[in-house]
Amino acid sequence: MEQNEVRELFKKNNALLNGHFKLSSGLHSDTYFQSALILQYPQEAEKLAKALAGKVQESGIKADVVVSPAMGGVIIGHETGRALGVRAVFTERVDGAVTLRRGFSIEKGEKVLVAEDVVTTGLSTKEVIDALKKYEADVVAVVSLVDRSAGKVDFGVPRFSLLSLDVKSYKEEECPMCKEGSQAIKPGSRK
Ligand SMILES: [Zn+2]
Repeated sequence: MEQNEVRELFKKNNALLNGHFKLSSGLHSDTYFQSALILQYPQEAEKLAKALAGKVQESGIKADVVVSPAMGGVIIGHETGRALGVRAVFTERVDGAVTLRRGFSIEKGEKVLVAEDVVTTGLSTKEVIDALKKYEADVVAVVSLVDRSAGKVDFGVPRFSLLSLDVKSYKEEECPMCKEGSQAIKPGSRK
């Protein structure tokens, strides 16, 4: 899938928003990717995940399991697992710590592909990678539908995305939109 095609898919599903947003990282931005609005259509999720999995396969990287952080990464992680023919599990936050629950486990040396919907600062992805250390997993790559850092975030492993953009995000105190007096909103959340 070409980047333009992915961008159009986001636009068509009203999943690419312009305004003044507070991201899950806490940063402010004029652009928001609400990927759930695309992933609610299983056929679209399947198509996107196939494209992501294809990039991983073309690179020659092999994975035994896909791990993604709940909630945002679950659907794309699951579909990527399907496309690669491997299992897919997800992490959850317990008392602030990212962890595998529900009896999910990773065997020592298993090759893990970490899947996200949107990477901004990469913090939640890094937390997943850290959480996998205690299983002595072998993290082989990171995939995301959207990379808002245009590849600048470094996870120490190869990474693949379908849409790579340099989208500016700001700390609240440095946000130009806040300075103009506008109020940031968190899409999909109650006030
Ligand atoms: Zn702001």
